[in-house]
Amino acid sequence: MAETQDDRSARAARVIDRLEQAMPDARIELDFRTDLELLVAVVLSAQARDVRVNQATPALFAAFPDADAYAAARPEDLWPHVRTLGLFRNKAKGIVAAARAIVEQHGGRVPRTREALEALPGVGRKTAGVVLVHLGAGNAFPVDTHVGRLARRLRFSRQEDPDRVERDLSALLPPERWGKAHQLLVWHGRRVCHARKPDCAACVVAQLCPEATAPTRGARPSSRPRASRRRARP
Ligand code: SF4
Repeated sequence: MAETQDDRSARAARVIDRLEQAMPDARIELDFRTDLELLVAVVLSAQARDVRVNQATPALFAAFPDADAYAAARPEDLWPHVRTLGLFRNKAKGIVAAARAIVEQHGGRVPRTREALEALPGVGRKTAGVVLVHLGAGNAFPVDTHVGRLARRLRFSRQEDPDRVERDLSALLPPERWGKAHQLLVWHGRRVCHARKPDCAACVVAQLCPEATAPTRGARPSSRPRASRRRARP
């Protein structure tokens, strides 16, 4: 029998409960001390590993201590500090443009609403959501590559588009759990439910995951829905 939305919602709550129990220390793995450092680090983390971002940011943050410093810079002034990261020219350009908007429109302080964050140059929905959650400024369920993959494997969503996955996930949990659930899914995706080879044998939510039995049948869990299963999905 197809899983109802209520059943799926209850299963999602149990998945997050178990992940929280197993990973009580799950937190954002980017280093930052201020709202602006958080925003800059999240922008830099797009298509780059957090560990690489953390290697780059101490010198960057020392050279550009506030929004005024970034706003007065040229994008190429940031290059020496960020050139080890993918898309560094675009990211530097976006950070300088965002800092100018922060100085001109928000008195030099990072805004704390989704609308204002998304209006900053170079800041998309996912970046705004991550910043909101970690500033404690609002509820959001940002969907990165890990969250999207887990949402599909756990059959909480059949969508590929991050905004649609976010909509499906948000419907399963109360808003106050979104931020923590995002973080737990990111950690689980990085440590256990790897993109290429998920470690289902070590997974604390295997009993709640429809894909968990795949390895025992000789098939590898996939991040994409299988055609034969699509009717049962949301
Ligand atoms: S059981 Fe396997 S596919 Fe399902 S969440 Fe765990 S690691 Fe991922």
